[in-house]
Amino acid sequence: MSAQQTALNDTPMPSQHALPSYLHADLLGPWDSYLQQIDRVAPYLGSLSRWIETLKRPKRILVVDVPIEMDNGTTAHFEGYRVQHNTSRGPGKGGVRYHQDVTLSEVMALSAWMSIKNAAVNVPYGGAKGGIRVDPRKLSHSELERITRRYTSEISIIIGPNTDIPATDVNTNEQVMAWMMDTYSMNIGHTATGVVTGKPISLGGSLGRREATGRGVFTVGCEAAQRIRLDIASARVAVQGFGNVGGVAARLFAEAGAKLIAVQDHTGTIYRPSSIDVHALIEHVAIQGGIAGFAGAEPLRNDDFWDIESDILIPAALEGQINEQNASRIQTKIVVEGANGPTTPIADDILRENNVLVIPDVVANAGGVTVSYFEWVQDFSSFFWTEDEINHRLERVMREAFASVWQVAQENNLSVRTAAYCIACKRILMAREMRGLYP
Ligand code: NAD
Repeated sequence: MSAQQTALNDTPMPSQHALPSYLHADLLGPWDSYLQQIDRVAPYLGSLSRWIETLKRPKRILVVDVPIEMDNGTTAHFEGYRVQHNTSRGPGKGGVRYHQDVTLSEVMALSAWMSIKNAAVNVPYGGAKGGIRVDPRKLSHSELERITRRYTSEISIIIGPNTDIPATDVNTNEQVMAWMMDTYSMNIGHTATGVVTGKPISLGGSLGRREATGRGVFTVGCEAAQRIRLDIASARVAVQGFGNVGGVAARLFAEAGAKLIAVQDHTGTIYRPSSIDVHALIEHVAIQGGIAGFAGAEPLRNDDFWDIESDILIPAALEGQINEQNASRIQTKIVVEGANGPTTPIADDILRENNVLVIPDVVANAGGVTVSYFEWVQDFSSFFWTEDEINHRLERVMREAFASVWQVAQENNLSVRTAAYCIACKRILMAREMRGLYP
């Protein structure tokens, strides 16, 4: 069996003679959802709307071949991406995703959502995102290190502490960030901790970063609940995705007294109306790699997850999960988007008609990038803050961002998403206008 065939069996890579996936990437999907979201906000941008094309085109797209030697001595090729959507307000910032289904269109959308998010919470960054089309669960530890180092070398021509700062995302973690930081540093000849965020604490990482996104989801979820007079202490919570974001958010809601009644991840769905023991589930997932087989709840068919009645639903897995097919079945009061792009524009409309309050990703999951910003600031100053200071500052940023977005939504009778886009797009386009075009 050839090396190409080995890679083909492990991942949905095209064969030697097929076109690379980015050449036939359909630009529908997440990128199209993002464009529709921009079209919806355009009427509210006043004279700044003349710059709107800026938001519809990524500034820079890099597609790289990532060849690595596999443990069995063969060579496999993987496709990697880094997209810088916009840098009008500062360096590009956004995570790196390892997933077998990653496409260029998806990374473009994720990079654009980072531009909007960073502007919505007013951290001084543009938007960027990266990814490798690989199932990391099928790689050994040393193969994972090799793919990370080669990918980092390939994209090092456009990343850097002042230009574009990657971070963790789906299936990437502190170890991956440590390898990325080391590779970049080796290439430039000195240690540059500020090139990535989400690093281990011992390498310039920030206290509180690991939990920051889930904590932000919780903070914003509580703010939203308060606005509609929903008592968190008796709320029923359902979570899709029990990883870094969903797992932490579920634990914080449960610790505040809420009942975690349903969880879904890539291994299955579980349900217990009287509440799932979140700490026992976290322990189970740490050992088993997923929620399947957890004894403290009933297994459900995956599709039935969308019929479960709850007060707060947290999609914290992948994009496009709440769509035309399932949106009308959702019986909840608030959707707090932990994932990026989990709700399609059509589903957004259905939920709004059904009086479901949607707190959009660009605000709800901004806690991660906010503490990434704190990490970057700490790295530059080589002065590190306490976890209490970080959580306190994070909560303040999240509460203030939520309050501004809520006010714009109420005053103009807009969805919270369109209100957030309104604030964010104005900030980006104002920067664009003030900087002017070069040359
Ligand atoms: P993760 O890898 O830690 O967890 C992902 C979770 O989603 C896992 O529980 C996995 O089992 C589940 N999942 C995967 N495919 C699924 C499927 N088809 N159906 C149901 N569940 C599935 O990733 P994460 O860091 O928690 O990221 C989750 C989402 O949050 C992504 O959209 C990511 O872009 C977004 N996000 C993450 C951060 C961060 O700081 N990690 C910040 C902002 C946004």
